[in-house]
Amino acid sequence: MRIKSLIVLITIFFIHVTALAEGGRVGKIVLDAGHGGDKPGAIGHFSQEKDIALAVTLQVGELMKKNMKDRQVIYTRTTDIDVPLAERHEIANRAKADLFVSIHVNSTPGTRTKIRSGSRTVKRKGKSVKVPNYIYKYDKTTEANGTETYVLGLSRNNQKVESIGEYSDNLTGEKEGLMDESDPMTAIIIAQYSQAFLASSVDLGARIQGQFAKQGRLDRGVKQISVEVLAGCVMPGVLIEIGFINNVEEEKYMNSPQGQTEIAHAIYNGILEYIKAVEG
Ligand SMILES: [Zn+2]
Repeated sequence: MRIKSLIVLITIFFIHVTALAEGGRVGKIVLDAGHGGDKPGAIGHFSQEKDIALAVTLQVGELMKKNMKDRQVIYTRTTDIDVPLAERHEIANRAKADLFVSIHVNSTPGTRTKIRSGSRTVKRKGKSVKVPNYIYKYDKTTEANGTETYVLGLSRNNQKVESIGEYSDNLTGEKEGLMDESDPMTAIIIAQYSQAFLASSVDLGARIQGQFAKQGRLDRGVKQISVEVLAGCVMPGVLIEIGFINNVEEEKYMNSPQGQTEIAHAIYNGILEYIKAVEG
């Protein structure tokens, strides 16, 4: 882990200079469908994050190939396979991509409710007595809805608490894990990354969120956290949570052809708007 961090750190130092020198054109865009293979990501009532993420990612790619012929689309995966995080970063870094767009599906932690379920008889001091029987009901259904976009940066205190508290189910997974900000190496990596790419990442994130809002989705904002998915990439990047898989309505929406098309358009239009702004 330390050595991996060091490599990332050196890469960031090195590319930081190159990135600044190269200037504006956004020629290569990496589209990263979250999870895959035996890593399903968040699980809903009838679907899995990895499949929704892939379907939407491929549609965003199709829109780009059709409408941005002079730009290159690079996928980290196009099928249902698990690509390790480091390899996703390597694909983006090796290609010297200009943007990294990771597409994910949100979820909230489940709740456990203790429910009285009849009674049972037990022996106490030689006597049969009736005691209440309890079962636990696990419920992952949430009312939470809408889209949010993460960018890599040091978490502001209250945001970190909110993210970890509300979405711990999702964010402590190996892919969307938060890094340990008290680790000096991590802090340096994030500071370096922030200096080079945070402003651009926030700009891209805000434009994508704006497109979702235009479609009537709840805009949960752009959140700055130490999310590992973006930490190894030496380019502006965003991690988009396109909706909550454990919200009944949103799960249906994200699995429907119409929903997927709308989401893909929001992401595509956000990227397009960003490119126009950057390239002037
Ligand atoms: Zn995910």
